[in-house]
Amino acid sequence: MRIVLLGAPGSGKGTQAQRLAERTGIPQISTGDLLRAAVARGTELGIKAKAAMDEGRLVDDALVLGMIRERLAEPDTRAGFILDGFPRNLVQAAALDGLLAELKQPLDAVVQFEVDRAELVKRISGRRTCADCACVFNVLTSPPTGAAAICPRTGAPHRLIQRADDNEATVAERLRVYEEKTRPLIAFYQSRGLLRAIDAEGQVDAVTERLGVALGLAPRPAAAARKGAAAKRPPRRKPARPARRRRPAARAEKRRPAPKKVPARAARKKRAGGPRTRKPPARRRARR
Ligand code: ADP
Repeated sequence: MRIVLLGAPGSGKGTQAQRLAERTGIPQISTGDLLRAAVARGTELGIKAKAAMDEGRLVDDALVLGMIRERLAEPDTRAGFILDGFPRNLVQAAALDGLLAELKQPLDAVVQFEVDRAELVKRISGRRTCADCACVFNVLTSPPTGAAAICPRTGAPHRLIQRADDNEATVAERLRVYEEKTRPLIAFYQSRGLLRAIDAEGQVDAVTERLGVALGLAPRPAAAARKGAAAKRPPRRKPARPARRRRPAARAEKRRPAPKKVPARAARKKRAGGPRTRKPPARRRARR
């Protein structure tokens, strides 16, 4: 599965990409995460990218494309990839097309996350990331609680940090840049027949479910019934399971019809089965 998650900052692409990667084993490739890692390591790329990131602008296309080209050459992407935050403008989308054509790995789908602007601002201001495991939380809408409050890397509570660019001024610029540069990608992918839009508001689990349905991963019975497409599946699946369990015994009987041993074994089995069928009433009596 080779997919692109498209959406404004704060639309939940990162959270859903993480979940999708866990569920499918396909790597999440987040250009934002790769750039932040480069900044933290102080590499040449990081130094060049930092100013644009701090101001909420897009990092130079050549830098991002070089980074993506390298990442897509890694062996784990043979099984597919989930692009999160890339492409972000038409130049990047065209370059991705060319690169994937070279690799003979065309995209399967582009999922667009639809969220209201007011909701985006609320989400970004509450967003926190664990410094150890990189899990994303929202202290306003989905704080880490219960077992989820423990970091799987350290075994201690998550060390939540706020991203440097999640401040009011930068957020406004990032949203403006999204409208100007990234939104045109919706029409770009629509014209290629790849676009699938989902409502990305509401509970995180509900969005995960919608994303799964959009990608044809695990249609819920209710969703399938609504569409009518998978309505035939449940009746076919349900009788198939018990039939499979019964089949070996039935086949065994069929395979050995001639020898006299079979009736003898069957008789033994029947005899052996006798007490077993009598046990449950005894247990029931005992409980009373
Ligand atoms: P968000 O989607 O919330 O803005 P990201 O983590 O995807 O967060 O990106 C953070 C910043 O990294 C962006 O504001 C931008 O400066 C830079 N960036 C990420 N991806 C790209 C990209 N594909 N092209 C250019 N800049 C990018």
